[in-house]
Amino acid sequence: MFLFQPPPPTRYDLNFSLAGIPVRVHPLFWLIAVLLGSSGDILLLPIWVLVIFVSILVHELGHALAFRRYGQESRIVLHFAGGLTIPEPVSWGSGYANVAHSPNQQIFISLAGPGAGFGLAALVIGFVLITGGSVGTTWLLGLIPLPLNALMPFGGRILNVLVSLLLWVNVFWGLINLVPVYPLDGGNVSRHLILKADPMDGVRKSLWISVIAGVLVALAGLLLLRSLYMALLFGFLAFQSYQSLQGRF
Ligand SMILES: [Zn+2]
Repeated sequence: MFLFQPPPPTRYDLNFSLAGIPVRVHPLFWLIAVLLGSSGDILLLPIWVLVIFVSILVHELGHALAFRRYGQESRIVLHFAGGLTIPEPVSWGSGYANVAHSPNQQIFISLAGPGAGFGLAALVIGFVLITGGSVGTTWLLGLIPLPLNALMPFGGRILNVLVSLLLWVNVFWGLINLVPVYPLDGGNVSRHLILKADPMDGVRKSLWISVIAGVLVALAGLLLLRSLYMALLFGFLAFQSYQSLQGRF
């Protein structure tokens, strides 16, 4: 999500592979999942951890399968700041080279992460409706309808919480991830859209958009959603974009 370099391997890493894509889970990933879940009922903590694990994995798998579509294999690392899909260099002549993707391919790869999450949310909604449950709408800032509150006919509170959390993480955080703030997926999309129109000055322009959008989302998170976490996260990302502007231009 927003780390460029993966943390070094540890002996406590969990390693497995999915559809031929190697996945490594750093031990601190579990810590951040527990911290995010610890604000609520302690009995629901395992559900939080499961939902965050599955959701971030599905998101990164979306990126990884998009890379594969363009002939590049990749590996996934889940770490303390989310997830990362790292494309593998492709053998090229006598050595290895990174595949150069066109702006449209970059945009597709960036959208595939949140897209996979929205797909998972759609499957969950389908499951709820087919089994006779219902999905209620929450209005974000009174403007955007989000399908977040599931009511299942069986499974009790645990299943209701599991399904509602899956929807919340995949829909709400999927949308947040599309805000044009670098290096979120939305920031990558806006950078490559602007680069298509303005190859010379596009990176600088996209960084200014990132600073402005980051400050706006930080303020909206703090004042409207009362989320200190969102304010700190987007404040930090806006500052990071501002610093790259100072360093580069
Ligand atoms: Zn992503």
